[in-house]
Amino acid sequence: MRLVVLGGGESGVGTAILGKKKGYEVFLSDFGKIKNNYKEVLILNQIPWEEETHTEDLILNADVVMKSPGIPDKSPIVKKLKEKNIPIISEIEFANKFTNVVTVGITGSNGKTTTTMLTHHLLKQGGLNVGLAGNIGKSYAWQIAENKFEAYVLELSSFQLDGVIDYKPHIAVITNISPDHLDRYNYDYSQYIEAKFRITKNQTEDDYLIYDADDEAITDWLSKNKIRAKKVPFSLTKTLEEGAYIKDDTIYTNINNETFIMPINELSLEGKHNVKNAMAATTVAQLMRIRKATIRESLSDFQGVEHRLEKVLKIQNVQYVNDSKATNVNATFFALDSMTTPTVWIVGGVDKGNDYAELMPLVREKVKAIVCLGVDNSKIIEAFGNVVDVMVETTSMTEAVKIAQKMAEKGDTVLLSPACASFDLFESYEDRGKQFKNAVQSL
Ligand code: ADP
Repeated sequence: MRLVVLGGGESGVGTAILGKKKGYEVFLSDFGKIKNNYKEVLILNQIPWEEETHTEDLILNADVVMKSPGIPDKSPIVKKLKEKNIPIISEIEFANKFTNVVTVGITGSNGKTTTTMLTHHLLKQGGLNVGLAGNIGKSYAWQIAENKFEAYVLELSSFQLDGVIDYKPHIAVITNISPDHLDRYNYDYSQYIEAKFRITKNQTEDDYLIYDADDEAITDWLSKNKIRAKKVPFSLTKTLEEGAYIKDDTIYTNINNETFIMPINELSLEGKHNVKNAMAATTVAQLMRIRKATIRESLSDFQGVEHRLEKVLKIQNVQYVNDSKATNVNATFFALDSMTTPTVWIVGGVDKGNDYAELMPLVREKVKAIVCLGVDNSKIIEAFGNVVDVMVETTSMTEAVKIAQKMAEKGDTVLLSPACASFDLFESYEDRGKQFKNAVQSL
């Protein structure tokens, strides 16, 4: 069997290693450059590869192709593979052939990483020998080749799910759905929603789907489509017989006639969105029979994830918060919503077709000044120019942070929550967040 791997990043190299170990004839091809550390791994494992080209003679003779999530369906090589009816699968699907391990699969437009890491923390503290993979850290395929965990928590993007044929998580989570990555779905929101729901398509009556019952895109889809998995909703607004809800500032989860209770103010993570993430993670932990005392303790000592509403420093009683991962309006909505003080808001970058209208009430209520940080700030200026008193344009992080410091007074918060991608001025959202933290630290 010939396995061709398209893409020489984490999931591509992991798949190549697993394929080789399982006896496939493996070839890896990347149209861009492959990082040196991955090249070394390929050479060490005697896996043939190429970069900066796709040699059709070496690719179109595949029995199966693993396409890395970053490669769009419209790329010419993928089109040719499709014409020849060669199966194209994702890394998760490939790895799934070689293991029966229990997985928790977590998808959604926002909150995947946070919920995945929190769930992993709860299960691990609960004594399970559980791995963490998907879009985080070492790839799932690589770990299936090398590690022996009894369960995995997987962060699954819509692109990973696009390439799923037989894979099913025992417990699936959809954190929420809002428009994102539409360029990869023919600008058709319904196709993106369908991709998210692929997470449940192979689930059976013995499996579970945990989801946000306050999310219209989710409830609408569920009202029109039948699924086999048991539905376990969570909600900030409704009381539920089975699932997670809020009463008296306390999370209640009712699962299989067992109720777990956790006061919101004991959660280590702040903000309404994190209450939702905590409800989802708690539900998983309860379904996996983790002790309540352990769940409670783990929810209160979880350290949070870098670049997600991360508290950086307090300087002269001004709190600096790094939410660089907020690359869409919905994520920034929850960041602003969780602000409890007057806020100087640093926003901007590459606009993905943002509609700022839903932020308007929060900006009116909480934001005293806006620092634009982007090459083209026209949409932000147009949206909020008349709403806040002070608005300044900047083109470097150091400048943005210095100006924010000038505008902030004792008791205020300076929040970096860009609602945009980072590529105009930064390499990535991580780079943007790190530059923010460095700039704050050198104030
Ligand atoms: P993802 O992996 O889906 O991108 P992250 O956990 O990395 O999600 O969070 C991305 C951004 O969204 C951060 O700015 C974070 O504060 C915000 N966020 C986290 N959870 C949620 C949620 N449940 N709903 C909306 N925004 C969220």
